[in-house]
Amino acid sequence: MSALPAKVSFENGGDFIRDIRREVDLYLDGRRTRLRGNIQLYVKSVVAFGVLAASWASLIFLHPGIALGLLALAGLSLGAILVGFCIQHDANHGAYFRTRRANHLMGWSADALLGISSYAWRVKHNVAHHTYTNVDGYDDDINQTPFARLMPSQQPRRWYRLQHLYIWPLYCVMVIRWQIGADAAAIIRGRIANSALHPPKRWDLTGLVGGKLLFVGWAIVVPLFVYPWWVVVLGYVGFTAMTSLITATTFQLAHCVEEADFTSAEELKANPRVWAVHEVETTVDFCPRNPVLTWLLGGLNYQIEHHLFPRVAHVHYPRIAEIVRRNAAQHGVRYTVQPSLWRALRSHHRHVRALGRVGMPVEIEMG
Ligand SMILES: [Zn+2]
Repeated sequence: MSALPAKVSFENGGDFIRDIRREVDLYLDGRRTRLRGNIQLYVKSVVAFGVLAASWASLIFLHPGIALGLLALAGLSLGAILVGFCIQHDANHGAYFRTRRANHLMGWSADALLGISSYAWRVKHNVAHHTYTNVDGYDDDINQTPFARLMPSQQPRRWYRLQHLYIWPLYCVMVIRWQIGADAAAIIRGRIANSALHPPKRWDLTGLVGGKLLFVGWAIVVPLFVYPWWVVVLGYVGFTAMTSLITATTFQLAHCVEEADFTSAEELKANPRVWAVHEVETTVDFCPRNPVLTWLLGGLNYQIEHHLFPRVAHVHYPRIAEIVRRNAAQHGVRYTVQPSLWRALRSHHRHVRALGRVGMPVEIEMG
């Protein structure tokens, strides 16, 4: 394992987050609030597992024609997205159950049903992304070099001129990369971006190997008994590309847009930032008034609230957003909301296109 650079640190505390936490604690303190939230979360999980299982079973046992087969494949992607956004994401943050063990067990749905290691995810997402949001070299989500330049401090390259076009197919293969071993490669390397990733032991190792085998079993081996190999390959690529595109786009619309701040370790050393302010100003909410999208994305359109309260179940984010928005205005913290999905997509497109311009120091409007 190569040596890791010194950790970037933020200033903790401050009036902004203290006031928000006090109000959020009051809101969550109501027993009925928590109970209602938990019931919503568990009902949603039954729907997610149900959609995934029913779609898979109809593909395997009913052997449908092309039209119904494509519909079942879309159902499989929908089920996987719901598992990814509404179950494994909450569970791996520790927001699903009370105990760490139960959360890790539910978080293992990422291994078994999505084919990605929950053990590696907890470092990539909970540590590298959540602790160092939009910090160059530390947040793995915005580190796509040498394929794309997603923040101003990354080196320009000639081929980035077209990145606003090829970024979409790139998003389609991100989950496949993890399924076929990017997670295992990170474990061997011992790091994800600048965060340490220790070799898994005992249950973690069993979960990783068992999860990969189970995923390959239901997604590839069993279908090979029913369909010709090329149908299985096409189906697997279609299913994973759709899941990957929606997953990557959801996270990018919240952080990789014109309105978000980006920074580097050097800038943070010269100008230390308060962690809560940094999280709010590197993140954007989108479509907060769309309950269907909020339900489908597991509240990840309320990404600001998620970053401030990752261990709170996502069903509470719309209510928490009111508290955060009001306090941001009172404390002079920039709080950005994109009112529509279209506006969020356009902002991401413009950001990626501007950063792709070769040799030009790109001025990003910081709001
Ligand atoms: Zn998260």
